Amino acid sequence: MNMNDLPLDAAVSLGSGTSFNATAAVSGIPAINLNDGPTGVRKQTGNADAIGLSPSLPATCFPPLAALAQSWDTELVERVAAALGEESQAADVQVLLGPGMNIRRSPLGGRNFEYLSEDPHVSGVLATAYVRGLQSRGVGASPKHFALNNQERDRMRVSADVDPRPMREVYLRGFQRVVEDARPWTIMSSYNRVNGVPASSDPFLLTQVLRDEWGFDGVVVSDWGAVQDRVAAVTAGLDLQMPFDGGTGNAAAVAAVEAGRLDRELVDRAAERVAQLVRKATAARRADVAIDPEAHHALAREAASRAIVLLQNAGDVLPLAPEGAIAVIGPFAEKPRFQGGGSAHVTPTRVDVPLDAIRANAPGADVSYSPGFTIGGGGADGSLVEDAAAAAAAADVAIVFLGLPEGSESEGFDRDDIELPADQIALLEAVAAAQPRTVVVLAHGGVLRLEPVASIVPAILDGNLLGQAGAGAVADVLFGVVSPSGKLTETVPVRFEDTPAFLDFPGEHTRVRYSEGLFVGYRWYDARDIAVRYPFGHGLSYTTFDYSNAAARKDGDTATVSVRVTNTGTRAGREVVQAYVSIPESAQVRVPRALAGFASVELLPGESRDVEITLDRRDLEYWDIRVDRFVLEPGTYEIALGSSSRDLRAVVDIALDGEIVRVPLTMESTIGELMAHPVAAALVARTMPSRDLDAGQAGLGVDTMRMMQSVPLAHSIAMAGGAISAEQLTQLLDAANSAS
Ligand code: BGC
Repeated sequence: MNMNDLPLDAAVSLGSGTSFNATAAVSGIPAINLNDGPTGVRKQTGNADAIGLSPSLPATCFPPLAALAQSWDTELVERVAAALGEESQAADVQVLLGPGMNIRRSPLGGRNFEYLSEDPHVSGVLATAYVRGLQSRGVGASPKHFALNNQERDRMRVSADVDPRPMREVYLRGFQRVVEDARPWTIMSSYNRVNGVPASSDPFLLTQVLRDEWGFDGVVVSDWGAVQDRVAAVTAGLDLQMPFDGGTGNAAAVAAVEAGRLDRELVDRAAERVAQLVRKATAARRADVAIDPEAHHALAREAASRAIVLLQNAGDVLPLAPEGAIAVIGPFAEKPRFQGGGSAHVTPTRVDVPLDAIRANAPGADVSYSPGFTIGGGGADGSLVEDAAAAAAAADVAIVFLGLPEGSESEGFDRDDIELPADQIALLEAVAAAQPRTVVVLAHGGVLRLEPVASIVPAILDGNLLGQAGAGAVADVLFGVVSPSGKLTETVPVRFEDTPAFLDFPGEHTRVRYSEGLFVGYRWYDARDIAVRYPFGHGLSYTTFDYSNAAARKDGDTATVSVRVTNTGTRAGREVVQAYVSIPESAQVRVPRALAGFASVELLPGESRDVEITLDRRDLEYWDIRVDRFVLEPGTYEIALGSSSRDLRAVVDIALDGEIVRVPLTMESTIGELMAHPVAAALVARTMPSRDLDAGQAGLGVDTMRMMQSVPLAHSIAMAGGAISAEQLTQLLDAANSAS
């Protein structure tokens, strides 16, 4: 249907929901449903809401994205998202609202459990896998929240004030990759402002960047309730306002078109995009999809087992033998914490219990249970601690489940600190004093300070939030049924004060300045040489890997690096090889190392395999603020291959031709820039009297020449005492500019 044929009010109403989750059915165009997302289908039964108040129908609760990301496994993420697509089909959901892919800028971010990483490469690559998997089942994705929604405090009005380079290289980079590589059917604009402009009515973000630069051809949907001014939003490029606002937005749009303040063409374009989405979704609709909840539960367990990170394992305490006496401690062993709160909250189809899973994996063992503390209890309970310590002393090993209470991590507010509750640390000290072979299993969405835990116990398993089947995965890793292979996607700092946004989070009076610039996550700790507890990319295994034969081969404007990985231990295992790029001689501000690729390999004991990682040009470029685009700098790129960002095993060099950015010389250019310009420098040598330029003859010391380098040409005329005229210089600049 040609949208021009639609009456104005019909075209306008296509651009708004008619309920909490449904679009409008207009002139034969049916309605579709957009539901959360991202790691389980949230189909609410009562009055729908965005913060998880009303109950929802049971659905598989896969590991939240923060945990899923720790798998660094694109194939797995794609399979999980495909399963979510099947469940969406079965629940009559046409767009599943995810993946969440904002950068985890501060560990306090309340929704960090929904986001993939502090790093844009791993976020972008995994989000791409998610969108591919979901859309392969005929269900649209909605990468969110576009853009710079990195905190919950004041999220509906705060302005994220960010410079162009970090915006492009860090905060938009992942979104760009997912748009270019996976073509999501929709993208969700965020609540916050970006450099003062509400993201949902920002023509720069929604039209210039998203459509004109990246070629996005889907629907821009607002976050729920984000649109304050529908006319400004449509003008900026927003297509679908969600949810239904009672009709105010539609009325404003109709009135604005009638008054000539809103171009009808823009309304039609938005309506056409929504209609196209509806057509695509209804054509892909499969009413007959039957879900096998057991198969999805098994997939959730597999995903969880890949997400677990073995943080430390002194004296090879792990894996445990499934025998003897095992003391299990902590209420999370009976009532696991496995997801975060808010719109991502899912009603699971079932929830496995760690204590049961441990008993199932160690049927011959004598497994005791003591709570040790109460969740959210505040203050150590002496008798609970004593009982737990006594049980630990009597056992061969203790497994202590620690974590954050469910209500402490949610959409809508940030965390106050990154500490585990003090009563849990007190309990742990008592247990470890009684039983040196103590293993900690952690449940939390956002990063925790782990200094105390790391020094109290030999072994720590980081469970993050593992979804409904996490218990079985934890038991599998504890007893070595699965060798852990997860790696952190966020640095664990020594101190909260060390974190990059410490001084500028969450801002004040509705503005937050991203003063750390490019130095987000590990880039910050590396640039400042700050010790960390566990680096980005870290994760141990029950086996060991050796790296050899590193090599690089140029591929046009980019490179393929390879390395031979050998399993040197006695168990099968999987290693995630990471490639970090540095440009030591760069003329730009650069981070010391940036992740540019990764690949995983599964190896039997003694087995070797060559791992190849093709670097994408996008991961090597920087954003040049002089020309407002990405540029590949010419020069030598060092690619470090390693097991974490601070366990680099081999370095290879690759020389790339790249592109030298030349901007026209002006009177604002400096003497240094003039002399660095090949044509201008030659002209100067030919046309300028040598006495004016020869430092030796003029009696200028080297430092004086260095000082002169930064003098703008306009100022140099004034300083040259009539030796050079403005006309001479202008002629020189014109000649240089026209020759280059
Ligand atoms: C959240 C979105 C979510 C939407 C719909 C909002 O509060 O920010 O992530 O998709 O609600 O529930």
